[in-house]
Amino acid sequence: MPILGIDDTDSKTEMCTTYLTIEILKNTSLDLIGYPKLVRLNPNIPLKTRGNAAISLTLGRGEGEKSTIGMINDDEIHSFARFRDEKLDIDVMSVIEKFSPKDPDTNPAMLINSEKNDEMFYWDAVREFVEYKSVIAAAKGDFRTINGDIGIVGANAAISWPEKNPTYELIAYLDKGKWMGEHFVDDSSSQLIEREFKDTFDNFDFRNNYNAIRPTTKTPVLFGIRGVDPIKLNGLEKYVKSEPYTSYIIYKTNQATDDHLVERSIGESAIYNSSIIRGFVSSGPVWNRGGVLTFEITSSGDSITAVAMEPTKEFRTVLSELKKGDEVRVYGGITKVGFINIEKIDIVSVSRIKEVRPPVCSNCKTRMESAGRSAGFRCRKCGAKSKIGETREEKRRIAPGFYEVPIIARRHLARPLKLGIVK
Ligand SMILES: [Zn+2]
Repeated sequence: MPILGIDDTDSKTEMCTTYLTIEILKNTSLDLIGYPKLVRLNPNIPLKTRGNAAISLTLGRGEGEKSTIGMINDDEIHSFARFRDEKLDIDVMSVIEKFSPKDPDTNPAMLINSEKNDEMFYWDAVREFVEYKSVIAAAKGDFRTINGDIGIVGANAAISWPEKNPTYELIAYLDKGKWMGEHFVDDSSSQLIEREFKDTFDNFDFRNNYNAIRPTTKTPVLFGIRGVDPIKLNGLEKYVKSEPYTSYIIYKTNQATDDHLVERSIGESAIYNSSIIRGFVSSGPVWNRGGVLTFEITSSGDSITAVAMEPTKEFRTVLSELKKGDEVRVYGGITKVGFINIEKIDIVSVSRIKEVRPPVCSNCKTRMESAGRSAGFRCRKCGAKSKIGETREEKRRIAPGFYEVPIIARRHLARPLKLGIVK
């Protein structure tokens, strides 16, 4: 049974690796075994293509029970649980070659193997910076590449994904002649799905009036609906009012898994990591140029600057209520040494800020004044003295708990709070 891993067939302006599934199915007589897989890789690596996505397909001659997981024109796409072994009857590489942009930064790669590779390859590719040479040396399977071997990291990661806490995405594709230009996906249908279908997530950001099922770049994708239950996801495409599309398919994905995040101390966190860092707010928050909010976290003598950029919108207002001494766990990515871009935050405890001021004189009902350093307080009118000041606790406008960026700023791998915390 061939398992294919494919990566890096898109550029910054063209294509989407996931579209290849449609073309591969159109060009082969083989069936999909299980769901096709969409695997997102380390979001902090520069020079990546837009979504940093790789795919994996298991192909064979399907047998027994089948389920419909998409359409190509009027034909159903089926997924089978059982299969007979069959040799690949097409040259997949020629399909990849045909559809990949001829761009110096596009480095298509495919890996074919008869079984999954060690999941360690996946965890490295979603969390670290991986040297492709080390993957070529260690991974099992038959590699094919065009324009360099970098894509092998993602192709291998896709067939090594252990499918822990998966989510699903129903992706609808435009006809090939229509990939460029503006496309119509009605906001109200996306709003309806957000409101009515609780098994879906990140469809519409009401506060920022942002339709998140519609891509913002030029791509074969017309829309994508994310959800946790593939059976309930199937059919939701009928609720989307849009221009015509010619195919759709449901992917099993590592989106919204938080797989990229690892609990690390500040000292252990390095560039390209995504970390969960626990510490105390040691200075800030401060509003910087361009609406960037920053504050410093300190733990065991080390410090790091936590950053919420302008696109994180109202999340910054929440964070601006933090105070020195608050204990937090910051979830985020490190793309610059010494800085962590916050995806979500767990406010473990808020500090109790006490303020001591002169008491009110019981005779005169006016406020006393300080009588000097450690000399207590004295009433200016009657001369009464008091050793004890009036303690007032500053009212905090933020409560312990989890807070996250809005949908408009969500990264593919970041798990929305509504799906529950896994880390
Ligand atoms: Zn007095």
